[in-house]
Amino acid sequence: MSRCTEQVLILQRVPYGESSLVVRALTRNDGPVHLLARGAHRAKSAFAWTLDLFDELELTYRKPRGGGLATLEKGTVLLRRAALPKNLAAYRAALCGLELCDLVARPGVNEHKLYEVLSQLLGDLDQSGAEAPDDALLARFEAQLLRDLGLFPATNNCAECAGDAPAYLAQEDEAGPRVPFSAEAGGRLCETCALAAKKAGRKVGTLPHRNLAGLERALGGEIHRDRKLAQAVHAIAARFLDFHLGVLPRTHRQFASPAAHR
Ligand SMILES: [Zn+2]
Repeated sequence: MSRCTEQVLILQRVPYGESSLVVRALTRNDGPVHLLARGAHRAKSAFAWTLDLFDELELTYRKPRGGGLATLEKGTVLLRRAALPKNLAAYRAALCGLELCDLVARPGVNEHKLYEVLSQLLGDLDQSGAEAPDDALLARFEAQLLRDLGLFPATNNCAECAGDAPAYLAQEDEAGPRVPFSAEAGGRLCETCALAAKKAGRKVGTLPHRNLAGLERALGGEIHRDRKLAQAVHAIAARFLDFHLGVLPRTHRQFASPAAHR
């Protein structure tokens, strides 16, 4: 057994037995952990009201040698994010952040970057009030996640040949110039590589140039105030992420429809 005290964000809570709780949590420096909180559902428990989603916690736990379920010994709320669960859009966006972190956090690896981007997302969703730009905040979060996973798509040059990949204007396209794009190929493509990729059986579509540029600006920290742009950027990041993770997170199902991808 080894004892750790870590700053923690809860990713998922699962009831265990009659009064206990198993939580999956992301620690600042100890990667993801599974914790058993004995008696957490009892009103007099030391953990009652401490293990809520979205809050910034400090937990002390004992880890068994060789991994497995750790035992929670002590918990303190460092920062209560009370506004977040009261706003449905913010709440949904926050669950999406938790689910993605749960999918990508690697056991036994210090995931402090992941912790930082999740903590920033939750903090911003909590503070932005009723008008939370939830899609924009998620778009920024997902862009940062893609970068940290080494998966950020090519947004300027061709993903295959690194050459110029000019946008072109399709007739009567109100979204403006479009660019060939393929998640399988790693992002934006030039005309030649797009044709080659299609021939090789890869799925190649097109995206409005301004949405792809919006993804890059989101990575730079920009929070898109234009709701349509924010949604479009969020959709690109989400689909790209899902493709490379090989899963469809519950909170991303809205992007699964083939109609959304031209
Ligand atoms: Zn190319």
